[in-house]
Amino acid sequence: MYLQSRRTFLKGAAFTVAGAAIAKGVFTADALAESVKESKFTDTPDSLSFYPPMEEWADFKELDGDDWKRGGIERKGVRSEENPDGIEVNDYMIVPTACSNCEAACGLTAWIDKKTFTVKKYMGSPLHPASRGRNCAKGYATQSQMYDPDRIAFPLKRAAGSARGEGKWVRTTWDEAMTTIGTKMGDTLRKGDDLSKKSVMFHVGRPNENGFTGKVWHTLGSDCFNSHTNICSSGGRTPTIQWANDDRSSPDWANAKLIFLNSSHAADAGHYFQQSASFIADARAKGAKLVVMDPRMSNSAGMADLWIAAWPGTEPLIYLYLTQRILNEGKVNREFVKKWMNWEVFLDNKAYLEYMVQKGYISKVPTKNDFDAFLDTIQELYSPYTLAHVAKETHVPAYKLEELYDMFIWAGTSISTYFWRATAAGNRGGWMSGRTGFLAIGLRGAIGPEGGTFFHHWHVISVGGKGGSATVGQGKRGSDIPKIDTWNELSWPPEWPLSTYEMSYLLPHLLADDAWQKKWIDKGLNVPQKLSVWIPRMYNPVWINPDGFRWIETIKDESKMELTFNLSPVWSETNWYVDYILPVGLAGERHDQHSEATMPARWTSFRQPVMRVALEKAGWKPKNPARATLEAHIKAGLGEVWEENEFWFDMCVNYIDPKGDIFLDAAKTKTIKSMWESKRLLVLQLLLLSGMMQHLVTTYQILKLQLLQMQDIKILNTQYMSI
Ligand code: SF4
Repeated sequence: MYLQSRRTFLKGAAFTVAGAAIAKGVFTADALAESVKESKFTDTPDSLSFYPPMEEWADFKELDGDDWKRGGIERKGVRSEENPDGIEVNDYMIVPTACSNCEAACGLTAWIDKKTFTVKKYMGSPLHPASRGRNCAKGYATQSQMYDPDRIAFPLKRAAGSARGEGKWVRTTWDEAMTTIGTKMGDTLRKGDDLSKKSVMFHVGRPNENGFTGKVWHTLGSDCFNSHTNICSSGGRTPTIQWANDDRSSPDWANAKLIFLNSSHAADAGHYFQQSASFIADARAKGAKLVVMDPRMSNSAGMADLWIAAWPGTEPLIYLYLTQRILNEGKVNREFVKKWMNWEVFLDNKAYLEYMVQKGYISKVPTKNDFDAFLDTIQELYSPYTLAHVAKETHVPAYKLEELYDMFIWAGTSISTYFWRATAAGNRGGWMSGRTGFLAIGLRGAIGPEGGTFFHHWHVISVGGKGGSATVGQGKRGSDIPKIDTWNELSWPPEWPLSTYEMSYLLPHLLADDAWQKKWIDKGLNVPQKLSVWIPRMYNPVWINPDGFRWIETIKDESKMELTFNLSPVWSETNWYVDYILPVGLAGERHDQHSEATMPARWTSFRQPVMRVALEKAGWKPKNPARATLEAHIKAGLGEVWEENEFWFDMCVNYIDPKGDIFLDAAKTKTIKSMWESKRLLVLQLLLLSGMMQHLVTTYQILKLQLLQMQDIKILNTQYMSI
């Protein structure tokens, strides 16, 4: 049966709307062409989210959009040997995977032309519970990335005798690169002393998976994980940690009455925007109000019911204005606050209350220890945040602040929000936005109910983050990887003992700062003065960080970074200065377990290499199963493009610790090799899992076994699951 895709439908619809329906057979609801009836082409689909049924994914035939416009097969018939001028009918195998062009992990389907074994297009995946078959332009662009003529097609190595950044590259092999890098890492880690455990550093930009790579570093016994967070989202995360020991919020946009965007984030930028935007559209169709607080006139602000352009950095005052009125007007959700806020702790801390009296924040220490005494005290505490004061400080007109308050009260507990970017990231003390914002929505009881704001870890599924025995180790519960017993001052400088994330942007400065190193070495710390190996991962500080030139200086300095390599699907400014560029896959070319908190339910996606799937379904078999994805990509004509999971498995067992003599524990029972080798069974299971997904067999028991008995898992379908 021929069906039309969403894209071809759109093309056809646009053509019809333009009034240019010149050919019989253009699909319109009231004038079905004979060819449509006869060949069972599906005419106008029921909805824009139309996809072929999954039973047809292994063998699905479709006309191109252009052919539809020109009359479809009625014009010249179906192309065949006898009819070479006929219309080509695409014969597709549709393979599900997940997008990797941002952190949202939307579903993708690769439409693989069975004649040429190339991906002709990427579409969404109707099976993904949060993206629901919809993608942003970056998702669809995966196909053009895949066949970009300038893509890195084989491992590259800086030419002998050239300096970093000279741009002289030679082709090398995975084996050569892994031997050089693995030997260097192994020689460093084999020393086993405190300093060596800080001398290999992995520096991640976009992880796009849930914990696997972090576990690699854990099994090296090193404090070598570094992130980009302190130049990105720490101002959004820190208040969430302070309020609920969680990382970020997880709003129930679709059921909210008030969508309160603390920047254009969520609706047209930042995390999960494609999924969030469609949930927000659903909510607005049901009557939800949209408030955008952002100094910029973003797309979201342009369509908001209320746009609040506070002077940058004053936003917390607006949340405190809401707080003041909620308290003064008796609008506190007493039941929620009494149950979930630690008000007793607040009242018990007499020393702190006395301190607040001394500072003039409150007039007296409450004598009673009951809930009303708590409310009375904070009512006085927040009383200075009056309409006049806040309007003056924020430069937001008073009528807008009052309108906001009215919306806030009208929405009850259905307030969905996300404290991120803009105010949170753009100002000193930006973390106070989330700190004050959670107070206002918490007082209204909008944390946790339908349409409200949830927390990230209530919804995200992190298989790799479940602990050593869940991913590597002895393969049994209780046999976890030994704890890391070292502290890397390059990531966690002693000057900032309360930093919540790695002070990663300081790395080049600290490596170059001899006086800083000497200061702490004289005090007895083993501060690294150089890195043996530096490994950026989807991280481009030369371009992204404001002090990119300092990064160039440090990366070029071989006395500070002895060996550098990047596992990277694409060129980047940082790549230009490293020693090796090892090409790994884009979305649809790698295995990842990737879950995000994009809706008030738990889902995870399995990213899988689609060409490998297609080849295996067609009977192809890898020579070396441990390098199956690499072999499949060579076979599919993509070049020597690999993926990280198989790479690190191979590296740990065969290149970093080939003899199994790098011990991780004092008792000398666990080595890097044994941590990974002991999972031979798991590798086998993962291969089975991959095969299982490829052949679309739903097997609850096998998945439960393979996903390490960590928790009960219900399979919604073969690609996504919810708990
Ligand atoms: S929003 Fe979805 S489709 Fe767009 S880049 Fe991110 S994961 Fe891909």
